[in-house]
Amino acid sequence: MSRRRVFVTRIIPENGLELLRAQCEVDLWEDALPPPRDELLRHAAPCSGLLTMLSDPIDGDLMAACPDLRVVSNYAVGTDNIDRETARERGIAVGNTPGVLTDATADLAVTLLLAAARCVPSAGHNATSGAWKTWEPCGHIGRDLVGQTLGIVGMGRIGYAVARRLARGFDMQVLYHARRDHEEAERVLGARRVSFGELLEQSDFVSVHTPLTAETSGMFDAAAFQRMRPGAVFVNTARGGVVVQSDLVQALREGSIFAAGLDVTDPEPPAADDPLLHLPNVVLLPHIGSATVGTRGRMAEIAAENVLAGLGGRPLPYAVT
Ligand code: NAP
Repeated sequence: MSRRRVFVTRIIPENGLELLRAQCEVDLWEDALPPPRDELLRHAAPCSGLLTMLSDPIDGDLMAACPDLRVVSNYAVGTDNIDRETARERGIAVGNTPGVLTDATADLAVTLLLAAARCVPSAGHNATSGAWKTWEPCGHIGRDLVGQTLGIVGMGRIGYAVARRLARGFDMQVLYHARRDHEEAERVLGARRVSFGELLEQSDFVSVHTPLTAETSGMFDAAAFQRMRPGAVFVNTARGGVVVQSDLVQALREGSIFAAGLDVTDPEPPAADDPLLHLPNVVLLPHIGSATVGTRGRMAEIAAENVLAGLGGRPLPYAVT
């Protein structure tokens, strides 16, 4: 029987590729940049499986152009780049890589929160640019952390891991906004569920951890930033689309919030003239939440296992429902 063909849209850690190559014909896109749309269509068309990145839009047109497609396995936990409804209608299984990236992403959210709170970009620039002349009694003044209030929007795996780090390490009080109660966060961390508006008004730090959905798209808009405390720090490691970026820029410019730590933007990367790139109170990273050796290796393994299960007609180990 001929081996099934799988398109892998970027180079991923070798352990994942080895798993696939042992059982499939692998077409690997080796460029540093994602395949442009026409190349994505051309390479995907003859395939039964796709191993995709969050930067690959997998929509209905693409699925229609792939008559043999059985499985789309995203090398990410978020699946907002995939039209899941059409996949369901067409009987195409969709998989992701949850759990294994929770700690790495939570670590990065805390990194951003600390860096934004303590003016790391502007103070670092001062130190390396020659502007550092003396110890400054009133310069580079950041925000205190210990005992402050942390607001978690989206108390899932990553939200909880961030809350745990900051409640235990920095004695923060935890508020959260979610669609249901999270018993463990309440019992273990003393977290309290509040409305979105209350969370904005009462938190010194706001960290967002929801998926990007129709409901969460643009939820951090001008009205939301206006409700936040003047000294608040905003952290986003979720998806750029949960924020109206121009409203965030305005809030940061006006000083209606203190600073932001961002691992994600909309679009990615931001345009070269995006003001976000030039604000002193922004810590900006190129979507590296899961970028650790162990995490990316495990993601590659899971993504490959999802492909193999889908090709074999078995339930995916990590299926998106
Ligand atoms: P998760 O465990 O599914 O947690 C997401 C939480 O958000 C759930 O508890 C969910 O349900 C809650 N939620 C959904 N819609 C909501 C809404 N409208 N209002 C409030 N809460 C809502 O997912 P995760 O593993 O923590 O990952 C979260 C997101 O992080 C991913 O979807 C992905 O986009 C992003 N991410 C980014 C990186 C990165 O590299 N920066 C890495 C990994 C993940 P309930 O409301 O029912 O609790």
